[in-house]
Amino acid sequence: MKRTTPFVCALVPVFSWVLVTCTQTPKKMPAVDGAIIEVRRSDSAIDVGEPGFDSTLQLYWLGTACHLIQLGHAQVLTDPFVTNRLRLNNLVSDPARVDVTLGRIPVPDAVIINHSHHDHILDAYGAMTQSAWANVPLYGSVSAKNLLAGWQQPSITTRCHEITVSGQAFSPSTNAPGYRITITPYLSKHAPHLKCGLTFLNGKITSPRTSPPSSVFDFQCGEVYNYLIDIRSPAKSFKVFYLGAPYDLEELPNSVPDNVAVDVVLALAPSAGNVPGYPQQHLGRLKPRHVVLSHFNSFTKEDPDAMGMPKSDIPGLSRAIQSTFSSNPRFEKLHIPAITILEPNKKARNVIQIH
Ligand SMILES: [Zn+2]
Repeated sequence: MKRTTPFVCALVPVFSWVLVTCTQTPKKMPAVDGAIIEVRRSDSAIDVGEPGFDSTLQLYWLGTACHLIQLGHAQVLTDPFVTNRLRLNNLVSDPARVDVTLGRIPVPDAVIINHSHHDHILDAYGAMTQSAWANVPLYGSVSAKNLLAGWQQPSITTRCHEITVSGQAFSPSTNAPGYRITITPYLSKHAPHLKCGLTFLNGKITSPRTSPPSSVFDFQCGEVYNYLIDIRSPAKSFKVFYLGAPYDLEELPNSVPDNVAVDVVLALAPSAGNVPGYPQQHLGRLKPRHVVLSHFNSFTKEDPDAMGMPKSDIPGLSRAIQSTFSSNPRFEKLHIPAITILEPNKKARNVIQIH
């Protein structure tokens, strides 16, 4: 007996290792069959007059769902939100944060709003009141227009256009000859925040507000729109689908068009697991060359580069997107971007370039 005790003791760590290893869920490889994950140095912006300016699609990601989609002198901004915070009350835009982000991008020809939760619209008023943006139109739901009416500024409300007809295209004017932007909205619904199907703050804003919104409860979701953006320069054209609200295609088949063969899908990450068929079914319809993941940083912390809430399963979503490579021969790349950095008198950094 005395001789076997050290032997048994030596086996304990071995048994423990076997037990722990066998009870862990097996980890999947980062890349699926048919894909390679590359991490490479990001690009800086191509500025006016530089080679490729009017033939390269440039995508700035300012965090959450705020993107600048630029082709030469034509540009569209999605969901202005750069004031990273979530509060019950005093939920207001930070002018300093707006100045050093939206104040430094090329002035857009149009702003489009997916829905009216604060993390998609909080900085719209601050952006639209910048002097350089005096002619910029904004397009969104009736609820979005009613929310922005709260500041009671006719110079803003006259530039807010409500979308009422799903599938009816509109063309904001561009300031450069030979350029054209056509945007088609597709009515959708917000992805459920919870597996049981619950979506928070899911009301509508049915009449114009008479005071600026300031509580998180003022930012009700309202009607929800995805957008197909066709952007053309004299040299090239691109189709971008802003999938700001993926939803069950069995229930809402017209929320994503079929057989469009887009160049880029901006794909939202939060609540992906609560939408049946997402992303495979949605990408199966859109057949993109590129997918750009979005809205996976935290909007609850001041640091826009922080991860956290809303929680996103980026490895799982990345593998699900890679799995569509085999059924979509057009697929070239999945991009998981860093937030675009805008410093005074320097080129924007972390810009995605699509050729
Ligand atoms: Zn939302």
